[in-house]
Amino acid sequence: MEKKQLDWANIGFNYIQTEQRYVSNYKDGAWDKGGLTTEANVVINECAGVLQYSQSCFEGLKAHTQVNGDIVMFRPDVNAQRMVDSAKRLEIPPFPPERFLEAVDAVVKANAEYVPPYGSGASLYIRPYIFGSNPVIGVKPADEFQFRVFVTPVGPYFKGGAKPITIKISDFDRAAPRGTGNVKAGLNYAMSLHAVVAAHDEGFAENLYLDCATRTKVEETGGANIIFITKDGKLVTPKSESILPSITKRSIFYVAENILGIEIEERDVYLSEVKDFAECGLCGTAAVICPVGKIYDHGTDICFPAGMEKMGEVTQKLYDTLTGIQMGTIGAPEGWIRKVC
Ligand SMILES: *Cc1c(COP(=O)(O)O)cnc(C)c1O
Repeated sequence: MEKKQLDWANIGFNYIQTEQRYVSNYKDGAWDKGGLTTEANVVINECAGVLQYSQSCFEGLKAHTQVNGDIVMFRPDVNAQRMVDSAKRLEIPPFPPERFLEAVDAVVKANAEYVPPYGSGASLYIRPYIFGSNPVIGVKPADEFQFRVFVTPVGPYFKGGAKPITIKISDFDRAAPRGTGNVKAGLNYAMSLHAVVAAHDEGFAENLYLDCATRTKVEETGGANIIFITKDGKLVTPKSESILPSITKRSIFYVAENILGIEIEERDVYLSEVKDFAECGLCGTAAVICPVGKIYDHGTDICFPAGMEKMGEVTQKLYDTLTGIQMGTIGAPEGWIRKVC
């Protein structure tokens, strides 16, 4: 197989259309057989449920080329299950997890020439999603849905080293208690766009959202969970029903506890105690861990001792171990790596 001649280091995080995608339609109470198609455009009625009332959910995961040349995915079974949870909360018929795995396998395999080579730092981003596709004008769930998976190659998240970012405490809220913050719904992102554009205009990389009931506790950013390292080397992360359960964070927990011997505390994290932590990072599929050097809170800078030049020491260990597992240079826990081809 000939790899595409792309400038892997500089393609960034943009949509690059690839050859094949997977489509399955839900109608009369059942998902059809589904299959690959070269048709990248979706044609739906002007009144489709997704267009009127945003009935949609999605997933995001990556395929990589490992050191031995295998093309693999990282824990896609957990994405499949999370999509079931999202779908149920949004009155979308869940797509069966075993079919989710077959679909992502098929799309990655069919676009193997777009999977960046080992060592490039780039990867193939996989986007499964479901949306209500038939006309809905009274407020109710759609009866017909489409599940799709497409892939797009993405460049290395960090070019020239992982420089810590500065984020701000947002005056907007992300997710209400008992709302939809814990599922991967498109609507959670739609309402965050204004807040993130405003934060970027002010020179910040991201918004850190507080719990909206009391605005005293830290929750997460628009698209990544947050972790802290205490001065005595413990990993602390907020616990809340309105945080999206990050697969990266769950994997970091496992690595911390079972490989690195780091103690974990998942609990309420008050904004007032954030100044006492030694290191801070954001975790998600895109960056694995993105170091945070500074949090801006209404005129006050909270600066982490790890500084603005490089990742903190403990964060770096977690990052190196998890990316080593993904790339095949460190042995993976049972079931974490799914070989595609
Ligand atoms: C997808 C997402 C994350 C990260 O989840 P991963 O499974 O680690 O990629 C974190 N927060 C939000 C709001 C998300 O949508």
